[in-house]
Amino acid sequence: MKLAEVSWVEAQAILKKVDTVILPVGSTEQHGPHCPLATDHLTAEAVANMVGDRVKLPVLPVVPVGVSSHHRQFPGTLWASPSVFREYVKAIILSASSHGPKKFFIINGHGGNTPSLKEVAEDLRSDEDIFLAIATAYPTKLDGHAGEDETSIMLYLRPQLVKMEKAVDTKQNEALAGIRMKTQKVGPADFGFDTIDLSTTGVFGAAGKMIEATKATAAHGEEIVKAHVDELCAFAEELKKAKLEELLPKPHK
Ligand SMILES: [Zn+2]
Repeated sequence: MKLAEVSWVEAQAILKKVDTVILPVGSTEQHGPHCPLATDHLTAEAVANMVGDRVKLPVLPVVPVGVSSHHRQFPGTLWASPSVFREYVKAIILSASSHGPKKFFIINGHGGNTPSLKEVAEDLRSDEDIFLAIATAYPTKLDGHAGEDETSIMLYLRPQLVKMEKAVDTKQNEALAGIRMKTQKVGPADFGFDTIDLSTTGVFGAAGKMIEATKATAAHGEEIVKAHVDELCAFAEELKKAKLEELLPKPHK
C-alpha cells in the first residue's frame, strides 16, 4: 500500500497497526543510450511496492535523486552531495517515525547511495532508537550498469521506456593516461573515477568483459525481479516480527 495515496485519516489507522515501513530510494542518472534516467528509482519503487503489497506494509514515496555525481558528464543526470542526501533521507525517516513506526526497510536501487544510507542507519540506531535495514532493489550479482541484467529488469517493469534499438554492447575502457585500469581502479589504486573514465556509452561492468545490453529480455528481467522480491519478502516478514528493543544497540557492559 502506497502511504502517499491515502488520506491522513487512513494513514492514522494504518500507522497505529504497523511499526515497520518501507522506503524506496533510487537515483536519476544515465543508464546507457537505451534505458531511462529513472531506471534506479523506478526499480526501487516497483520492487518496494511488490514487497509492500505482499507483506502488507506501507510504502513511502520513492526518493528519486541520490549520490550520482560520478555520472555527471552524461546529460540528464541529477545528484545530491552525500551530506545533503543523508540529511534529506534522515528527515523523511524522522518525520515518518514521528507518527509511530520505528523500523524502516530501505529498498535501494543505486549502489552509490549505500555508504550514505549506512551512515544514516548508524546515526538513527544509536541516537534515535530507530532501526533501518537496507537492501538493494536487485540482486547484487548483476552483470553491470545498464547491462543485460539491468536492461532486462527495465524491459520487464517499464518496457515502454526502453529503446532497445539504441542498446549497445560495451567493453570497458582499459587504460587511463596509459595506465592499465581494473574495473574502478587505475593499476592497483582507487581514484575518484567518473563513469565516463570507464565507458563512453555509460554501460559498464568489469574491466575486460563485454557487457551485452543487446541480449536483454523481459523474461530474464521477470526472473531476476521475482526471485529477488521473494527474498526481500521473506526478510520483511522477519523484520515485521522482530521486537524493536532487540534490534536496538545493546547496553554498555
Ligand atoms: Zn542502475
